[in-house]
Amino acid sequence: MRCRSVLYRGIHSDASRMAAIVLAALIAYVIAQCYPIVELEVNGNVSRATLLGSILVLWQGHMPLVAAAVFLFTILLPAIELLALLHVTLALALGHKPKSFNLLLYAVYLARRWGMTEVLMIGILITIVKMTSLATVVLEPGLFAFAALTLMLAIVVSFDPKILWNLGDALTPQPDVPPPVAQAALSCHVCGLVSAGSGAQHQECPRCHAQLHHRHPYSLGAPGRC
Ligand SMILES: [Zn+2]
Repeated sequence: MRCRSVLYRGIHSDASRMAAIVLAALIAYVIAQCYPIVELEVNGNVSRATLLGSILVLWQGHMPLVAAAVFLFTILLPAIELLALLHVTLALALGHKPKSFNLLLYAVYLARRWGMTEVLMIGILITIVKMTSLATVVLEPGLFAFAALTLMLAIVVSFDPKILWNLGDALTPQPDVPPPVAQAALSCHVCGLVSAGSGAQHQECPRCHAQLHHRHPYSLGAPGRC
């Protein structure tokens, strides 16, 4: 009402459908990482570039911080998000809640904020356009896999993890949470559970144990959140 951000999406509530899309994204991820992205030919010298190979070149070229950042944001965090989501959605589709359910969904929450595959895709396309004037550029399977991965990650990001929290609760009923009082209700920004505010300065969510806030932290610096 106030910031017009989406409170709840009723789509994608089927865990097995979520698992299928996450599995497809994971296959595209593996192809994108294993196959070369482009082939460059300059004066008869041919070289093929994979993402991991480019990171190694950065590492050996005395740019370890850049190499570590690229590895973290484009390889490690997307892998954590996809693997954790696949584990949770497959388990929920099979009718049981995984042991480390809270930890896995919290990992998805954190990894999603920092995964930058779409930024990498834009960078790759700009580089290819620039390189065409210097070398013969041949597009390799890794590039198409990255394009597919970017599209599939956009669908995966549309999954609301709060639906998974609710599906998990439905399988193992939680202890009764006091009904929220209208003026003091707090909504958890991690799992979406609404609980009554106690008036204490620091209060934990009874479901995922994240810190509860009356307003989203740093909401003034992040348009669309309140
Ligand atoms: Zn919570």
